[in-house]
Amino acid sequence: MASFDEMREAGDIETIWQNGEFVDWDDATIHVLTHGLHYGTGIFEGARAYDTENGTAIFRWEEHLDRFFASGDPYELEIPYDREELTEATLELLRRQDHDSAYIRPIAYFGYGSLGISPDDCPTDVAIATWPWGAYLGEDALEHGIEVMVSSWRKHASSQIPTNAKTTGLYVNSLLAGEEARRNGYQEAIVLNKEGQVAEGPGENLFLVRDGELYTPGLSQSILDGITRDTVITLARELGYTVHDQATISRGELNTADELFFTGSAAEVTPIRKVDNVEIGDGDRGPVTEEIQSAFFDLVERKTDAHDDWFTYV
Ligand code: PMP
Repeated sequence: MASFDEMREAGDIETIWQNGEFVDWDDATIHVLTHGLHYGTGIFEGARAYDTENGTAIFRWEEHLDRFFASGDPYELEIPYDREELTEATLELLRRQDHDSAYIRPIAYFGYGSLGISPDDCPTDVAIATWPWGAYLGEDALEHGIEVMVSSWRKHASSQIPTNAKTTGLYVNSLLAGEEARRNGYQEAIVLNKEGQVAEGPGENLFLVRDGELYTPGLSQSILDGITRDTVITLARELGYTVHDQATISRGELNTADELFFTGSAAEVTPIRKVDNVEIGDGDRGPVTEEIQSAFFDLVERKTDAHDDWFTYV
């Protein structure tokens, strides 16, 4: 993945929307005593705009906005902009920077004011950035799958911190799991929940295929309610598959699965070919994964007319 400096040099990124203004990329800075920096008290989103047959469009933006606002609720973090303002800001960023396709990162956090844990004196700051971002785990990953390890780190239980809010601080757990995997030669991790059942990836939901049916951990398993997860459940059912969307998946079931794949706005639909060095199925992208992946890319690139209400056109 190119660094921001490289993208800057290539002229791919220029502008960020920060607290209601479009500012030069280099000027979108914050104070070192920002509350969110110290305590992880921010919430964010990750969405994608695709270069579709009908022009550039943001995929499931309304659902990303729903989750963005809902993520603030446990922290009484109120976003001082409405949906229209955030939408217009995002569309304008895509237009101004000529982004035909892009990753979209809205963030809201407690800002600069005081550093008691209580954020009473801190404003809620909001920013949105967009940048070109190809396949999160690489093009080869989409075709042949990735090798993952089951992390020794467990996911926080939702009795410890709301796992269904996309909170910045939660991602230290994702970093620990992902980096542990990469240090051990894998590309990504699978994280178990506190009870030892399969939860999700550091930034992805997980699907398992067995005997032609799909299984994905339910919301009670300390997962994020992924928007791509919902998309894949919908597409798979439309293709005639039975999908168990509130499954409990034990660690051992991973190794005996016919197929496994990750879903996420960044990871899209990424096959998993090995877990802890044990081959899954034939050790390559499986047929069900491939069918669902094709349906997903046909959808987001608008090669089909279905679900046009999921698209916000630039
Ligand atoms: N789980 C976690 C922990 C994530 O960070 C993400 C990425 N947002 C996902 C799952 C997938 O969610 P989505 O499909 O909405 O991007």
